[in-house]
Amino acid sequence: MINLKKRVALEAARIIRHNVTAEHPLRHLFWECTLRCNLHCRHCGSDCRQASATPDMPAADFLRVLDEVAARTNPNNVFVIITGGEPLMRPDLAECGRAIHDKGFPWGMVTNALALTPERYRQLLAAGLGSVTVSLDGLEESHNWMRGNEHSFGRVAQAIEMMTATPGLTYDVLTCVNQRNYRELPAIRSFLVGKGVGRWRVVTVFPVGRAAKDPEMRLEDTQFRGVFEFIKETRQQAQIHASYGCEGFLGNYEGQVRDHFYFCHAGITVGSVLCDGSISACASIRPDYHQGNIYRDNFMDVWERRFQVYRNRAWARQGECAECSMFRYCEGGGMHLHDETGRLLFCHYHRLTET
Ligand code: SF4
Ligand code: SF4
Repeated sequence: MINLKKRVALEAARIIRHNVTAEHPLRHLFWECTLRCNLHCRHCGSDCRQASATPDMPAADFLRVLDEVAARTNPNNVFVIITGGEPLMRPDLAECGRAIHDKGFPWGMVTNALALTPERYRQLLAAGLGSVTVSLDGLEESHNWMRGNEHSFGRVAQAIEMMTATPGLTYDVLTCVNQRNYRELPAIRSFLVGKGVGRWRVVTVFPVGRAAKDPEMRLEDTQFRGVFEFIKETRQQAQIHASYGCEGFLGNYEGQVRDHFYFCHAGITVGSVLCDGSISACASIRPDYHQGNIYRDNFMDVWERRFQVYRNRAWARQGECAECSMFRYCEGGGMHLHDETGRLLFCHYHRLTET
């Protein structure tokens, strides 16, 4: 049962969500600049390889998209986040960042840090790098097991030291909880606190890609709940600012494990340009929900005239969501949690309340 005070707060959050949805200002633009990756992680939702059948997107093609965006909105208000694959696989990453910066867009990247040498880091900072998300999936043994590389933990630790020593940089550490690192969460927290990390994002695996076939990735019900108890406790301790990722309505944990109430921003304030030119929202959303392609369409025409499936989620009221009393707050969960038919793959709320 959700108590009255929380219901009132959820109703207020619902009004805000509808107002933002009606306005749908583009605020975060992901660029999947490459599908190549130097790791082969157990939980990865994609099937990245060192070499990919899809070539890296030429920088000029994405920069043309930025011109289309800048023609209709203030570039200072649109944060470009470079993802992959692994962005550092691109030798021209710093040049890309500099060109994005010169067009007036703030930019950052999501990286596994394996190729983030101090020299490369300096080049990226000089090119205007403003934010970094780096993944850490355990202490040394479990992180390297998850990442399939014996050097990965050391590189992440080095990246964290470089980030914490950089004034003005926005950064966070992302941890994906699985069977193997679940019991390590307090030790990972101590490690991050010891390194002076300010922000820590904790997520759970959702069942697609390699993770779907790997039982070690999937948490038991008590562990799933335990993740939220752990985040709550960590926030109360206030040594590091921990948050759960954006996916999933969490019932009574709403307002306790994130800085805001549940809101899937995909297609509402978040857009993306994928490596093959597809226009989407978050990179983990299925191709069935792509809205256009930069090689055929003006990005802003698509942003302004399409994306209805993202902005009116009435279609999600089906299957498990059809009779759900939380639909008014949740609207069917994150877009990336739906299959090609619209069916929901995973409900956080029901997993928490029915176990
Ligand atoms: S059943 Fe659907 S609407 Fe209800 S909480 Fe789960 S995802 Fe949200
Ligand atoms: S699609 Fe998923 S990852 Fe993207 S904003 Fe929605 S919940 Fe978050």
